[in-house]
Amino acid sequence: MTYPPQQTEAERTILLSDAIDWALAHGLVVRPTVDKQAHFSNHSAVTHAPFALYPTPFPRAEFEKAQGLQQPWNTLIHKLSLDDALIAEVMETLSQVDDFMQKLYDIYLTVRKEGIAQPASLGIHRCDYLLHAAPGADAKTARIQQVEFNTIASSFGSLSTCTSKLHRYLLQAVEHYAGGQINIDQLPENRSVETIASGIASAWKLYGNPHAKVLMIVQPGERNAFDQRWIEYHLLESHGVRVMRRTLAQVADTASLDTQNKALRMEGQEIAVTYFRAGYGPEDYHSQKEWDARLIIERSLSIKCPTVAYQLVGAKKVQQVLAIPGRLEQYVDVYTADLLRESFAGLYPLDESPEGKQAFEMALNDSENLVMKPQREGGGNNIYGAEIQDTLRKLSAEERKAYILMDLIRSPPLQNLMVREGQLIHGEVASELGIYGIYLHDGEKTVVNDLGGHLLRTKGHTTREGGVAAGFAVIDSPLLV
Ligand code: ADP
Ligand code: MG
Repeated sequence: MTYPPQQTEAERTILLSDAIDWALAHGLVVRPTVDKQAHFSNHSAVTHAPFALYPTPFPRAEFEKAQGLQQPWNTLIHKLSLDDALIAEVMETLSQVDDFMQKLYDIYLTVRKEGIAQPASLGIHRCDYLLHAAPGADAKTARIQQVEFNTIASSFGSLSTCTSKLHRYLLQAVEHYAGGQINIDQLPENRSVETIASGIASAWKLYGNPHAKVLMIVQPGERNAFDQRWIEYHLLESHGVRVMRRTLAQVADTASLDTQNKALRMEGQEIAVTYFRAGYGPEDYHSQKEWDARLIIERSLSIKCPTVAYQLVGAKKVQQVLAIPGRLEQYVDVYTADLLRESFAGLYPLDESPEGKQAFEMALNDSENLVMKPQREGGGNNIYGAEIQDTLRKLSAEERKAYILMDLIRSPPLQNLMVREGQLIHGEVASELGIYGIYLHDGEKTVVNDLGGHLLRTKGHTTREGGVAAGFAVIDSPLLV
């Protein structure tokens, strides 16, 4: 198979404009940078989201394996969030060297001491994987390895659903699209945005007050809110649930707790569910005000997505701890533990344990096969290659504890065409697969444990970070092979 399929120049020109029109007409869009908005008022200009012109081949067995792991992951994350000893073990060290983690941990401790008002919790997670094949090995031997699991603000639900539909459309509508190389059943359906919205709706229903609203926590002045907006539209149109979009600062100004049952109220409304699309990094907390808002929400009767405990166990340090032999078995049966572990890349501490010291030495000698990660989300924070050595030399033994090391996952390169701001970019690419998971627990039992849709982000093979918003990657869909 030659990939991407060969076409004449004229055919490709038509294809490109068909794809761009479909994207613009169906809301596969982002706002351009401010300088390009100059001719329009009120940020009313959009361009298509960066997308892959063809779906990128991905082994079907590995795709289905990732899907099969999601429900066990949902359950595992919930169990981790209830494990005070694990949270204490990880956070007592981290909080000494990471101010942000310390503030989150303080909220966790404060609320636990006061007594938790809302026993239910909602998880909208996304596990991310890259394909890995040993250098020189056949691409067919590539297996998924987990990059990370996200427990807060897992994004791209709507854009991923939309891109899956774009590729299906192109296959059906454009005569010369794939030269017979693609079958529709190789393009899996993708209902990410619907499953995310229905997860929030289930929590809203569980709360039990038909007049209460969903509070979506957003960043101030967020220009590319479409992904969040789609969730909001689905909640209203499919479930009759109304959403208030507010920043943490706005919550701090107007929110209060019922003195009896700690119901969260703001602007005359009661809040059933608080869904965080901001608050995952220090940039979202400009002052004490935002921290006050986070605390009032955590104390409240509203169902949190995520709870601060979910956010804490989403830390990369927890991912590393889970890779220690025997740790997974504390939460799941031996069979499930083996299944989950199969997708783990090597993970190493950078603390004062013997393993931590050994990892430190290893990184000083050979950093080409490693990634160094702090406890941050949202892309652009990782350290690679020789920079790992420079960084390790600068950090004190104490400061090193804020990081973990991970084996570099090596994806076999493929060819594809990417489209950004109307420009066609041909290149060697690698794709990162995300699988969404929805989990609702009422304090006594699991109410929802669903596999959501998927996300494929494709980037130039040599690009190290995977962020679409940050301009490194495009949104894609898998062609199952
Ligand atoms: P973040 O929370 O910032 O998203 P990630 O762990 O997902 O942190 O890392 C960001 C990006 O870095 C990933 O999308 C992936 O492209 C790359 N990356 C992370 N870990 C590895 C790894 N072990 N091997 C190769 N690339 C990695
Ligand atoms: Mg990531």
